[in-house]
Amino acid sequence: MITDTHAHLYFPECISIIDEILSRARDSGIRRIIVPAVDLETSKVAIELSEKYEMIYCAVGIHPGDVNKAEINVIDELNKLLEREKVVAVGETGLDYYWDTSNIEKQKSFFKIQIELAKSHKLPVIIHTRNSVDDAVEMIKENYDKDLRGQFHCFSGNKIQLNAILSMDNFYVSYCGNITYKNYADIDVIKKTPQERLLSETDSPFLPPVPYRGKKNEPSYIIHTLDKISEIKGANTDELLKSINKNVESLFFDFLPTKRNTDNAD
Ligand SMILES: [Zn+2]
Repeated sequence: MITDTHAHLYFPECISIIDEILSRARDSGIRRIIVPAVDLETSKVAIELSEKYEMIYCAVGIHPGDVNKAEINVIDELNKLLEREKVVAVGETGLDYYWDTSNIEKQKSFFKIQIELAKSHKLPVIIHTRNSVDDAVEMIKENYDKDLRGQFHCFSGNKIQLNAILSMDNFYVSYCGNITYKNYADIDVIKKTPQERLLSETDSPFLPPVPYRGKKNEPSYIIHTLDKISEIKGANTDELLKSINKNVESLFFDFLPTKRNTDNAD
């Protein structure tokens, strides 16, 4: 059984066919999907989806690409939403220097506040790091303590950055479908990522793996990315999945307050 830890199922192209997407996901062995938000509105929709569909869990937060339109008082609202039953993380947050570098200070302040929210709710943080891995890792290091844990999602850093993450307990990385593309440059970083620190994700509807490149990504395609990781690491996919599932449990599901732990499927 597989968990897709990152699928933006509220985007129009996904939500309009969500029943089909979920049914294909179930048929492909996916048991749970975590839907991360990008702003206040999608935080609310992600919660609604989690309340409507048993297999959906969610994260609430402000994406670095969406901080421009956000006011700081949105944090009070997020604080309340984090209490909801199927919210398993803060996110996605982080830093994005690919789309906009004119607002780095605002991105950093939203990231910092969301790190604090995660700590105070004892929830993990889902971190986006496009062209910004060094700064994001540094901010996590500065705020690191026993209550802070999280996922560097769609990781694209180098080995030095990977090692900085691995030096902190309870931090994990995950890779998306773009690792199956011919020109993907960082195969060696994947090889060096221990199974004990890997998570599974798609980032749907973005970055579909081969053979779906050019289409809209969806959770059922995750197996192609997992197969590629197994191939790169010379591992057996079932064994790899066992490790990944253990990591997913311990990051997103094991430490949740009792009210959120009622659906213990194992
Ligand atoms: Zn995302």
